[in-house]
Amino acid sequence: MATQTPSATADTPEISDLPDRTEAALTEVMSVLDDIGLARGAPDLYLVVSSSGSTYLVDTRKGTCECPDDEYRDITCKHKRRVAFATGERPIPGWIQRAQLDDNFGEYVDGDVRFLTTDGGVAQARFDDGEVIDPEEDPLAVHNNDEPRTRRAKREEMDVSFLAKPGRYEVHSASDSVYEVDVLAKTCSCPDTVERCKHFRRVDIEIRAGLVPRPDGKLPDA
Ligand SMILES: [Zn+2]
Ligand SMILES: [Zn+2]
Repeated sequence: MATQTPSATADTPEISDLPDRTEAALTEVMSVLDDIGLARGAPDLYLVVSSSGSTYLVDTRKGTCECPDDEYRDITCKHKRRVAFATGERPIPGWIQRAQLDDNFGEYVDGDVRFLTTDGGVAQARFDDGEVIDPEEDPLAVHNNDEPRTRRAKREEMDVSFLAKPGRYEVHSASDSVYEVDVLAKTCSCPDTVERCKHFRRVDIEIRAGLVPRPDGKLPDA
């Protein structure tokens, strides 16, 4: 007599379904609108406009979508998935290539798209005019080959401000300490004895990214 394993067989189709719809949710041209039409003033409601021009109402509180895929099948449709990614509720998985993401990602929606980094962490992505800043282009995104000190320089809460020219910056750390970095002399007033401490690295990163004035005191765009 054969032993039945009902739970395994019941779960399998759903699981094997997942990657396709997730990929569709990430790569297909869709717009998520969170404050228009039926979704206006309703924080749980989103309108998802597909590339074919169809519009579906997604209710994140009830977990429903108006599309046939969701209505007649017991799955999480691509529209609901897209809303979760666009609002940052779900981080974008590491296996999808940034270039494959739909260009409309995050447009019209308040929220921070999050990316799962390959080392298992989550990188916060920022929006610029509705476009997601690729973590590869975000100066503070942590990369796999970053040294531990560079990781800390990027991850830790630090506030860098220009102090005096040439090349002197003040770094307020999360612990409320204030250190002075001199980028020309390559020094920092912190107790760390290595040549390039995390404060120095952070200042260096912010100068290159144009987030603080250059060592000569000129503003990034001047
Ligand atoms: Zn749907
Ligand atoms: Zn330092």
